[in-house]
Amino acid sequence: MDAAAVKQGIRPGKLFIDGKAEDATSGKTIPVMNPATGEQVTTVPEAGSEDVDRAVKAARRTFENGIWRKMNASQRERIIWRIGDLIDKNKEELGMLESLNNGKTYREALRGDIPPTADIFYYYAGWTRKIYGETIPVDGNYLNYTLREPMGVVGMITPWNYPMLLAGWKVAPALATGCSMVLKPSEMTPLTTLKLAEYCVEAGVPEGVVNVVTGCGATGEALARHMDVDKIAFTGSVRTARALLTASGESNLKRLSLELGGKSPNIIFPDADLDRALKAAFWGIYANKGEVCSAGSRLLVHENVYDEFVGKLAARAGKMKLGDPLDPGTEMGSQISQLQLEKILGYIESGKQEGAQVMAGGERDTEGAKAKGFFVKPTVFAAVKPGMKIAQEEIFGPVLSAIKFKDADEAAEIANGTIYGLVSAVWTRDIGAAHRLAQRIKAGSVWINAYNCFDSSSPFGGYKQSGFGREMGPHALESYTQIKSVWVSLD
Ligand code: NAD
Repeated sequence: MDAAAVKQGIRPGKLFIDGKAEDATSGKTIPVMNPATGEQVTTVPEAGSEDVDRAVKAARRTFENGIWRKMNASQRERIIWRIGDLIDKNKEELGMLESLNNGKTYREALRGDIPPTADIFYYYAGWTRKIYGETIPVDGNYLNYTLREPMGVVGMITPWNYPMLLAGWKVAPALATGCSMVLKPSEMTPLTTLKLAEYCVEAGVPEGVVNVVTGCGATGEALARHMDVDKIAFTGSVRTARALLTASGESNLKRLSLELGGKSPNIIFPDADLDRALKAAFWGIYANKGEVCSAGSRLLVHENVYDEFVGKLAARAGKMKLGDPLDPGTEMGSQISQLQLEKILGYIESGKQEGAQVMAGGERDTEGAKAKGFFVKPTVFAAVKPGMKIAQEEIFGPVLSAIKFKDADEAAEIANGTIYGLVSAVWTRDIGAAHRLAQRIKAGSVWINAYNCFDSSSPFGGYKQSGFGREMGPHALESYTQIKSVWVSLD
């Protein structure tokens, strides 16, 4: 893919309301940057509450007139499938946009971002005809049945680390259930979400069903407080999730599904296939420069193999190739922003101060062209105690905290000892022990002898403060529908 051609093709972004590209009423814009080079890629409008209101009105109109939700399910199936086809057809351009806008490597975007986004549309296309209610054998002379109806107008607020994929995880099930929607992508990475909305219309979704408002937190807040939005589907930080809960409570009690952060334990027992475990632990933390909600940021290693395992991992981290995200040889790109860089370096400093031992990295990388971007050397901390800040708080960067344990009981206690519960992994050849631990870990996913397994048909979401509600699989359909019980007297 020709990066220069993609760059040249990027026009100033517009709001996407009722199928039309529009500026914000205020005329305000925000710059969209390439974090790897410090260059401005383009601008997008900063939507105010009046723009959000227009988008919500378009969504409401299409929901009430039924232009989408009452369309034959077989027709909706074909349209949703076509969205997947459009994503697949444009995968190189989309991958390039994610890379230019997020700082992740093009290689990663092409593999980890775009194909699963196409797939989520293929997966939910088939669900349009399979969402139905039940008849219930109630007492008395009644026919009682349920209708599974779309939730209504859904606001979708997404972060910057997997911009298109995390939008797709919401748009696809919402379309399959017949909802109308307003998306608010991260201010830092709005470009592929705008493309997605265009593809929806191109595929045949009626104008006004899928709308996009670009902007910062205030734009999201306007959506979250809007009295005519029925639900917010959110991926992002715990801090913003709290604001959303408050906004819901202070407005119309809109429903919420929340996919939040993690501090996920990756647990290595001495009898595991340690070579495989090492590779998975490495990519489990350094993929997408550690800006992954499911990053295996806490490495729990049994004391018998701790020194050897952590030593090897640190050696591999020391050889990791950082640099131009478009270079096929690059293994890790730039962090998203100056702010994120500072946050990560702050955590590295705190780890050092609390007495953890730097085995690799531990600083910014400013060599050559990297001086213009926000590159952090892949960092491994050893001698980490479970209570340290770097073992408790989500860093969202390439920083691994390696903790020693002596047996399964201690591993479970450490694994469960944070506010989070998104994912986890267990590495052992003792399959009984693995299943026993899987039952004890409070997390939405447990991977046994594997890491970062995802599939459109399998649910993903958090325990504890990693959120509630599930994305993907049939489970996501529940959060975009509500159930009506209909009673018919047979007397
Ligand atoms: P963030 O919470 O700062 O921002 C997420 C989105 O919320 C952005 O679009 C932002 O503009 C918007 N927002 C900010 N303040 C708002 C407010 N008051 N009201 C409404 N909207 C508001 O998170 P981030 O920094 O963009 O993303 C990083 C976080 O996302 C991490 O904590 C990470 O773990 C989490 N994350 C979770 C998953 C998951 O699936 N569980 C996936 C990716 C990222």
